[in-house]
Amino acid sequence: MSNMLDTDRATALDAARVAFRAELLDAGLLIGSTVPGIYGRSGAFEAIISGLDAVLGEMARPLAATVLRFPPVYPRVDFERTDYIASFPDLTGIVSSFDRGDREHRELLSARATGEAWDGWLDPTDVVLTNAICHPLYATLEGRLPVGGSVFDLSGYGFRREPSSDPMRLQSFRMREFVFVGAPDDAQEYRDSWLDIAIETLASLGLPVSAVPANDPFFGRAGKMLISNQLRENLKVEITVPLYGDLHEGTAIASANCQRDHLTAPFDIRTSEGALAHGACVAFGMERTALALLRTHGMDVAGWPGEVRALLGL
Ligand code: AMP
Ligand code: ZN
Repeated sequence: MSNMLDTDRATALDAARVAFRAELLDAGLLIGSTVPGIYGRSGAFEAIISGLDAVLGEMARPLAATVLRFPPVYPRVDFERTDYIASFPDLTGIVSSFDRGDREHRELLSARATGEAWDGWLDPTDVVLTNAICHPLYATLEGRLPVGGSVFDLSGYGFRREPSSDPMRLQSFRMREFVFVGAPDDAQEYRDSWLDIAIETLASLGLPVSAVPANDPFFGRAGKMLISNQLRENLKVEITVPLYGDLHEGTAIASANCQRDHLTAPFDIRTSEGALAHGACVAFGMERTALALLRTHGMDVAGWPGEVRALLGL
Protein backbone atom coordinates (compact mmCIF):
# COMPACT_ATOMS: atom_id res chain seq x y z
CA MET A 1 0.00 0.00 0.00
CA SER A 2 2.67 2.49 0.99
CA ASN A 3 4.55 1.58 -2.19
CA MET A 4 1.51 2.48 -4.21
CA LEU A 5 1.33 5.82 -2.47
CA ASP A 6 5.00 6.47 -3.14
CA THR A 7 4.49 5.73 -6.81
CA ASP A 8 1.50 8.06 -6.97
CA ARG A 9 3.50 10.75 -5.26
CA ALA A 10 6.43 10.33 -7.67
CA THR A 11 4.06 10.54 -10.63
CA ALA A 12 2.40 13.65 -9.23
CA LEU A 13 5.82 15.22 -8.60
CA ASP A 14 6.92 14.48 -12.17
CA ALA A 15 3.71 16.04 -13.45
CA ALA A 16 4.23 19.12 -11.27
CA ARG A 17 7.77 19.55 -12.62
CA VAL A 18 6.65 19.18 -16.21
CA ALA A 19 3.87 21.71 -15.57
CA PHE A 20 6.36 24.20 -14.08
CA ARG A 21 8.62 23.70 -17.11
CA ALA A 22 5.66 24.37 -19.45
CA GLU A 23 4.82 27.56 -17.52
CA LEU A 24 8.42 28.78 -17.89
CA LEU A 25 8.43 28.03 -21.63
CA ASP A 26 5.00 29.61 -22.16
CA ALA A 27 6.11 32.75 -20.33
CA GLY A 28 9.18 32.84 -22.62
CA LEU A 29 11.51 32.88 -19.61
CA LEU A 30 13.27 29.72 -20.80
CA ILE A 31 13.61 28.69 -24.44
CA GLY A 32 13.36 24.93 -24.90
CA SER A 33 15.53 22.75 -27.11
CA THR A 34 15.39 19.16 -28.36
CA VAL A 35 17.69 18.07 -25.52
CA PRO A 36 16.39 17.86 -21.93
CA GLY A 37 18.13 20.29 -19.60
CA ILE A 38 19.44 22.58 -22.37
CA TYR A 39 17.65 25.93 -22.53
CA GLY A 40 18.01 29.45 -23.77
CA ARG A 41 17.35 32.25 -21.28
CA SER A 42 15.28 35.37 -21.92
CA GLY A 43 16.20 38.94 -21.05
CA ALA A 44 13.69 38.89 -18.19
CA PHE A 45 15.31 35.74 -16.80
CA GLU A 46 18.80 37.20 -17.16
CA ALA A 47 17.68 40.34 -15.30
CA ILE A 48 16.89 38.12 -12.30
CA ILE A 49 20.31 36.43 -12.59
CA SER A 50 22.05 39.83 -12.74
CA GLY A 51 20.13 41.03 -9.68
CA LEU A 52 21.10 37.91 -7.84
CA ASP A 53 24.73 38.32 -8.82
CA ALA A 54 24.68 41.83 -7.37
CA VAL A 55 23.05 40.61 -4.12
CA LEU A 56 25.68 37.88 -3.75
CA GLY A 57 28.49 40.32 -4.51
CA GLU A 58 27.16 42.62 -1.78
CA MET A 59 26.84 39.69 0.64
CA ALA A 60 30.46 38.70 0.04
CA ARG A 61 31.93 42.20 0.20
CA PRO A 62 33.43 41.63 3.70
CA LEU A 63 35.38 38.68 2.31
CA ALA A 64 37.43 40.95 0.03
CA ALA A 65 37.75 37.88 -2.18
CA THR A 66 40.02 37.72 -5.21
CA VAL A 67 37.79 37.71 -8.27
CA LEU A 68 38.68 35.08 -10.86
CA ARG A 69 36.76 33.87 -13.90
CA PHE A 70 37.55 30.71 -15.85
CA PRO A 71 36.01 29.50 -19.13
CA PRO A 72 33.56 26.56 -19.13
CA VAL A 73 36.29 24.15 -20.25
CA TYR A 74 39.60 23.44 -18.56
CA PRO A 75 42.74 21.33 -19.10
CA ARG A 76 42.25 17.60 -19.02
CA VAL A 77 45.59 17.13 -17.23
CA ASP A 78 44.18 19.11 -14.29
CA PHE A 79 40.93 17.13 -14.40
CA GLU A 80 42.96 13.94 -14.30
CA ARG A 81 44.73 14.99 -11.13
CA THR A 82 41.37 14.98 -9.31
CA ASP A 83 39.32 11.79 -8.86
CA TYR A 84 36.22 13.21 -10.56
CA ILE A 85 36.17 10.45 -13.19
CA ALA A 86 36.17 7.85 -10.39
CA SER A 87 33.37 9.56 -8.46
CA PHE A 88 31.20 11.08 -11.20
CA PRO A 89 31.86 9.33 -14.55
CA ASP A 90 28.19 9.73 -15.46
CA LEU A 91 28.27 13.53 -15.06
CA THR A 92 31.54 14.05 -16.94
CA GLY A 93 31.89 15.70 -20.35
CA ILE A 94 34.99 15.69 -22.49
CA VAL A 95 35.42 17.73 -25.66
CA SER A 96 36.03 15.79 -28.87
CA SER A 97 37.24 17.27 -32.13
CA PHE A 98 38.58 16.32 -35.53
CA ASP A 99 42.34 15.90 -35.73
CA ARG A 100 42.88 13.68 -38.76
CA GLY A 101 43.56 14.19 -42.48
CA ASP A 102 41.63 14.88 -45.70
CA ARG A 103 40.93 11.23 -46.36
CA GLU A 104 39.32 10.73 -42.95
CA HIS A 105 37.37 13.96 -43.37
CA ARG A 106 35.93 12.61 -46.66
CA GLU A 107 35.02 9.38 -44.88
CA LEU A 108 33.30 11.35 -42.14
CA LEU A 109 31.32 13.36 -44.69
CA SER A 110 30.21 10.33 -46.65
CA ALA A 111 29.09 8.59 -43.47
CA ARG A 112 27.17 11.74 -42.53
CA ALA A 113 25.61 11.98 -46.01
CA THR A 114 24.17 8.48 -45.65
CA GLY A 115 22.87 9.19 -42.16
CA GLU A 116 25.52 7.05 -40.45
CA ALA A 117 27.27 8.00 -37.22
CA TRP A 118 30.17 10.36 -38.02
CA ASP A 119 31.40 11.08 -34.51
CA GLY A 120 33.73 8.06 -34.59
CA TRP A 121 36.13 10.27 -36.61
CA LEU A 122 36.42 12.66 -33.70
CA ASP A 123 38.94 12.14 -30.90
CA PRO A 124 38.92 13.31 -27.27
CA THR A 125 40.97 16.50 -26.89
CA ASP A 126 42.98 17.92 -24.02
CA VAL A 127 40.03 19.92 -22.65
CA VAL A 128 37.12 18.79 -20.48
CA LEU A 129 33.92 20.60 -19.53
CA THR A 130 34.09 22.27 -16.12
CA ASN A 131 31.81 20.38 -13.72
CA ALA A 132 32.35 22.43 -10.58
CA ILE A 133 33.69 25.90 -11.17
CA CYS A 134 36.20 25.65 -8.32
CA HIS A 135 38.13 22.85 -10.08
CA PRO A 136 40.08 25.14 -12.47
CA LEU A 137 41.00 27.30 -9.47
CA TYR A 138 42.68 24.55 -7.43
CA ALA A 139 44.96 23.69 -10.34
CA THR A 140 46.39 27.23 -10.18
CA LEU A 141 47.20 27.18 -6.45
CA GLU A 142 50.01 24.62 -6.29
CA GLY A 143 52.54 25.63 -3.62
CA ARG A 144 52.22 27.79 -0.50
CA LEU A 145 49.29 30.06 0.30
CA PRO A 146 49.65 33.46 1.96
CA VAL A 147 49.33 33.73 5.77
CA GLY A 148 45.64 33.28 6.72
CA GLY A 149 44.80 31.51 3.46
CA SER A 150 43.04 32.86 0.38
CA VAL A 151 39.44 33.59 -0.58
CA PHE A 152 38.18 33.58 -4.17
CA ASP A 153 35.03 34.79 -5.89
CA LEU A 154 34.25 32.54 -8.87
CA SER A 155 31.42 32.50 -11.39
CA GLY A 156 30.76 30.56 -14.54
CA TYR A 157 29.04 27.73 -16.34
CA GLY A 158 29.33 24.15 -15.18
CA PHE A 159 28.35 21.06 -17.16
CA ARG A 160 26.79 17.96 -15.63
CA ARG A 161 25.38 15.20 -17.77
CA GLU A 162 22.05 14.82 -16.00
CA PRO A 163 19.29 15.19 -18.61
CA SER A 164 15.89 15.67 -16.99
CA SER A 165 12.43 17.09 -17.63
CA ASP A 166 12.73 18.89 -14.28
CA PRO A 167 13.46 22.54 -15.15
CA MET A 168 15.60 22.78 -11.99
CA ARG A 169 17.96 20.11 -13.34
CA LEU A 170 19.99 21.52 -16.20
CA GLN A 171 22.96 20.08 -18.05
CA SER A 172 24.64 23.46 -18.30
CA PHE A 173 24.11 26.07 -15.58
CA ARG A 174 25.83 28.89 -13.75
CA MET A 175 27.28 28.84 -10.28
CA ARG A 176 28.68 31.62 -8.13
CA GLU A 177 31.13 30.29 -5.59
CA PHE A 178 33.06 31.77 -2.72
CA VAL A 179 36.01 29.51 -1.97
CA PHE A 180 38.37 29.52 0.99
CA VAL A 181 41.69 27.67 0.88
CA GLY A 182 43.85 27.62 4.00
CA ALA A 183 44.32 26.00 7.41
CA PRO A 184 41.90 23.11 8.15
CA ASP A 185 40.23 24.77 11.18
CA ASP A 186 39.78 28.02 9.28
CA ALA A 187 38.21 26.13 6.37
CA GLN A 188 35.68 24.48 8.67
CA GLU A 189 34.87 27.79 10.35
CA TYR A 190 34.53 29.51 6.97
CA ARG A 191 32.04 26.89 5.79
CA ASP A 192 29.94 27.14 8.93
CA SER A 193 29.82 30.91 9.17
CA TRP A 194 29.17 31.44 5.44
CA LEU A 195 26.42 28.85 5.47
CA ASP A 196 24.56 31.07 7.95
CA ILE A 197 25.18 34.19 5.88
CA ALA A 198 24.04 32.41 2.70
CA ILE A 199 20.82 31.30 4.39
CA GLU A 200 20.15 34.83 5.64
CA THR A 201 20.80 36.31 2.18
CA LEU A 202 18.51 33.87 0.37
CA ALA A 203 15.82 34.27 3.05
CA SER A 204 15.97 38.04 2.56
CA LEU A 205 14.71 37.38 -1.00
CA GLY A 206 11.55 35.84 0.44
CA LEU A 207 12.64 32.26 -0.22
CA PRO A 208 11.46 29.71 2.38
CA VAL A 209 14.92 28.13 2.77
CA SER A 210 16.07 25.23 4.98
CA ALA A 211 19.55 23.85 5.64
CA VAL A 212 19.73 20.10 5.05
CA PRO A 213 22.66 17.67 5.46
CA ALA A 214 23.42 16.36 1.97
CA ASN A 215 25.73 14.28 -0.17
CA ASP A 216 27.11 14.40 -3.69
CA PRO A 217 25.81 11.75 -6.13
CA PHE A 218 28.96 9.56 -6.02
CA PHE A 219 28.72 6.86 -8.67
CA GLY A 220 28.24 3.14 -8.20
CA ARG A 221 28.94 0.75 -5.40
CA ALA A 222 32.17 2.43 -4.28
CA GLY A 223 30.21 5.69 -4.19
CA LYS A 224 27.92 4.37 -1.47
CA MET A 225 30.75 4.49 1.04
CA LEU A 226 31.78 7.99 -0.01
CA ILE A 227 28.17 9.10 0.45
CA SER A 228 27.96 7.69 3.97
CA ASN A 229 31.30 9.29 4.94
CA GLN A 230 30.18 12.65 3.61
CA LEU A 231 26.93 12.45 5.59
CA ARG A 232 28.55 11.15 8.76
CA GLU A 233 31.16 13.89 8.80
CA ASN A 234 28.63 16.57 7.83
CA LEU A 235 30.79 17.77 4.93
CA LYS A 236 27.96 19.04 2.73
CA VAL A 237 24.94 21.12 3.66
CA GLU A 238 22.38 22.16 1.07
CA ILE A 239 20.09 25.14 1.20
CA THR A 240 16.77 23.94 -0.16
CA VAL A 241 13.46 25.52 -1.16
CA PRO A 242 10.18 23.57 -1.38
CA LEU A 243 8.69 24.10 -4.83
CA TYR A 244 5.93 21.51 -5.05
CA GLY A 245 4.11 21.64 -1.72
CA ASP A 246 3.91 18.26 0.02
CA LEU A 247 5.12 16.37 -3.04
CA HIS A 248 8.80 17.08 -2.43
CA GLU A 249 10.83 18.20 0.56
CA GLY A 250 12.76 20.79 -1.42
CA THR A 251 15.33 21.43 -4.15
CA ALA A 252 18.87 22.63 -3.43
CA ILE A 253 19.60 26.15 -4.62
CA ALA A 254 22.99 26.43 -2.88
CA SER A 255 25.46 24.30 -0.96
CA ALA A 256 28.17 24.85 1.65
CA ASN A 257 30.97 22.32 1.45
CA CYS A 258 34.00 21.19 3.37
CA GLN A 259 36.28 19.72 0.76
CA ARG A 260 38.95 18.86 3.31
CA ASP A 261 42.09 17.96 1.32
CA HIS A 262 40.11 16.44 -1.51
CA LEU A 263 41.19 19.09 -4.03
CA THR A 264 44.23 20.52 -2.26
CA ALA A 265 46.15 17.23 -1.97
CA PRO A 266 46.13 16.48 -5.73
CA PHE A 267 47.71 19.90 -6.38
CA ASP A 268 49.90 19.93 -3.28
CA ILE A 269 48.47 23.20 -1.97
CA ARG A 270 50.03 24.14 1.39
CA THR A 271 49.42 26.69 4.12
CA SER A 272 52.01 29.41 4.79
CA GLU A 273 53.41 27.06 7.44
CA GLY A 274 53.75 24.19 5.01
CA ALA A 275 50.86 21.96 6.19
CA LEU A 276 48.46 20.52 3.64
CA ALA A 277 45.70 23.12 3.13
CA HIS A 278 41.96 22.42 3.19
CA GLY A 279 39.31 23.89 0.90
CA ALA A 280 35.75 25.00 1.64
CA CYS A 281 33.18 26.59 -0.64
CA VAL A 282 29.74 28.12 -0.65
CA ALA A 283 28.18 27.56 -4.07
CA PHE A 284 25.01 29.21 -5.40
CA GLY A 285 23.09 27.74 -8.32
CA MET A 286 22.13 30.85 -10.31
CA GLU A 287 19.41 29.37 -12.52
CA ARG A 288 17.99 27.33 -9.66
CA THR A 289 17.77 30.36 -7.41
CA ALA A 290 16.11 32.42 -10.18
CA LEU A 291 13.65 29.57 -10.79
CA ALA A 292 12.93 29.24 -7.07
CA LEU A 293 12.17 32.99 -6.99
CA LEU A 294 9.79 32.60 -9.95
CA ARG A 295 8.09 29.62 -8.34
CA THR A 296 7.77 31.37 -4.98
CA HIS A 297 6.78 34.88 -6.07
CA GLY A 298 5.10 34.16 -9.42
CA MET A 299 5.93 34.23 -13.12
CA ASP A 300 5.38 37.97 -13.41
CA VAL A 301 8.28 39.84 -11.81
CA ALA A 302 6.20 43.02 -11.69
CA GLY A 303 3.99 41.31 -9.09
CA TRP A 304 6.86 40.30 -6.76
CA PRO A 305 7.05 41.83 -3.28
CA GLY A 306 8.47 45.35 -3.49
CA GLU A 307 11.35 44.68 -1.10
CA VAL A 308 12.48 41.65 -3.12
CA ARG A 309 12.40 43.64 -6.36
CA ALA A 310 14.30 46.45 -4.68
CA LEU A 311 17.04 44.08 -3.48
CA LEU A 312 17.38 42.57 -6.95
CA GLY A 313 17.16 45.95 -8.71
CA LEU A 314 14.14 44.73 -10.74
P1 AMP B 1 26.91 21.28 -5.92
O1 AMP B 1 28.34 21.53 -6.25
O2 AMP B 1 26.41 19.97 -6.48
O3 AMP B 1 26.57 21.46 -4.48
O4 AMP B 1 26.10 22.37 -6.75
C1 AMP B 1 26.04 23.72 -6.36
C2 AMP B 1 24.70 24.27 -6.75
O5 AMP B 1 24.57 24.24 -8.18
C3 AMP B 1 23.52 23.46 -6.24
O6 AMP B 1 23.15 23.82 -4.94
C4 AMP B 1 22.45 23.83 -7.25
O7 AMP B 1 21.86 25.06 -6.90
C5 AMP B 1 23.24 24.02 -8.52
N1 AMP B 1 23.11 22.80 -9.36
C6 AMP B 1 23.71 21.60 -9.17
N2 AMP B 1 23.36 20.74 -10.13
C7 AMP B 1 22.50 21.40 -10.95
C8 AMP B 1 21.77 21.06 -12.14
N3 AMP B 1 21.87 19.85 -12.69
N4 AMP B 1 20.99 22.01 -12.69
C9 AMP B 1 20.90 23.24 -12.17
N5 AMP B 1 21.56 23.62 -11.07
C10 AMP B 1 22.35 22.72 -10.45
ZN1 ZN C 1 33.29 24.34 -4.97
